[in-house]
Amino acid sequence: MAGEFELIKRYFEAATGDREDVLLGIGDDCALLQMPPGKVLAVTTDTLVSGRHFEAGVDPESLGHKALAVNLSDLAAMGAEPAWASLALTLPSPDEDWLQAFMHGFAQLARAFDVTLVGGDTTAGPLSVSVTVHGFVDLHLALRRDRAQVGDQLYVSGTLGDAGLALRHQQQAEPHRHLLQARLDRPTPRVALGLALRGISCCAIDVSDGLGADLGHICERSDVGARIAVEQLPLSAAVRRYVAQTDDWLLPLTAGDDYELLFTVPKAQQAALERKLADLHVPVSPIGSIVAANEGLEALRPDGTCIKGMGKGYDHFRA
Ligand code: ADP
Ligand code: MG
Repeated sequence: MAGEFELIKRYFEAATGDREDVLLGIGDDCALLQMPPGKVLAVTTDTLVSGRHFEAGVDPESLGHKALAVNLSDLAAMGAEPAWASLALTLPSPDEDWLQAFMHGFAQLARAFDVTLVGGDTTAGPLSVSVTVHGFVDLHLALRRDRAQVGDQLYVSGTLGDAGLALRHQQQAEPHRHLLQARLDRPTPRVALGLALRGISCCAIDVSDGLGADLGHICERSDVGARIAVEQLPLSAAVRRYVAQTDDWLLPLTAGDDYELLFTVPKAQQAALERKLADLHVPVSPIGSIVAANEGLEALRPDGTCIKGMGKGYDHFRA
């Protein structure tokens, strides 16, 4: 059975990229990394814990993908350009088939975004995966939660509620089952969109805990309110059908794990947004607008009635 250091050589060193700004990568006490002049570092960490974020029997390749994807999604939501990652892995046993598949999923996504794995930690214990990513951004162009302004339009990328519907339908036959499951297991971080929004938007968040909860974070940090028109929410065919059958708007409004970008654009920048989107090939939909803080956060049906319970997103300590 391979020991800790053989595993590192075999699986982690092999997964590193070839960025020139990595002056010293895996193998020493620290990595030595060169920042581009004039940029600031954007840093974020996300942990996936067995039994909480995924089942122990999860496909390891998907888990490797997702562990990196959720972090890249945070960089995207900041308008940052991804560069480096570190990986803290806690494994019940040094199962090499598992590790190989896990690192395949991780490395494939890393390569796609020119991210180099520069270090990490490997320990024995209950399965958990913690990834930190580093990216670059111009300080004055960062997409911050506290920058929404009354009158801004609200937009969201992709579609909402797919991952949530996959979780609900885990046991059921459903024609779009594979599509939904892929949205849950292999989210696409919206990095290109985040980068394209620099200078057009100044406020974004990624939808990880649910639209209502994440929009709530923007509202709180920016001291504003928001109005969503539910008929404008972008829905996949499966979620559209589900909502038509159940009238359960809370699925697209509150389900997490979609990793789409939610962002605000001032009216003066809307033409610039349209121009940018024309060559980006990422679907983006207007879903509402930013209003004064005292108007709160509301999702409205076309007849003007309000959908209750939108603010509740996922909170680990509230269950
Ligand atoms: P130290 O004891 O100095 O913290 P380690 O023995 O834990 O270093 O790790 C040796 C080298 O391997 C370090 O450069 C570390 O960053 C890297 N490393 C360990 N585990 C991982 C991992 N899961 N992914 C990437 N690099 C790793
Ligand atoms: Mg050391």
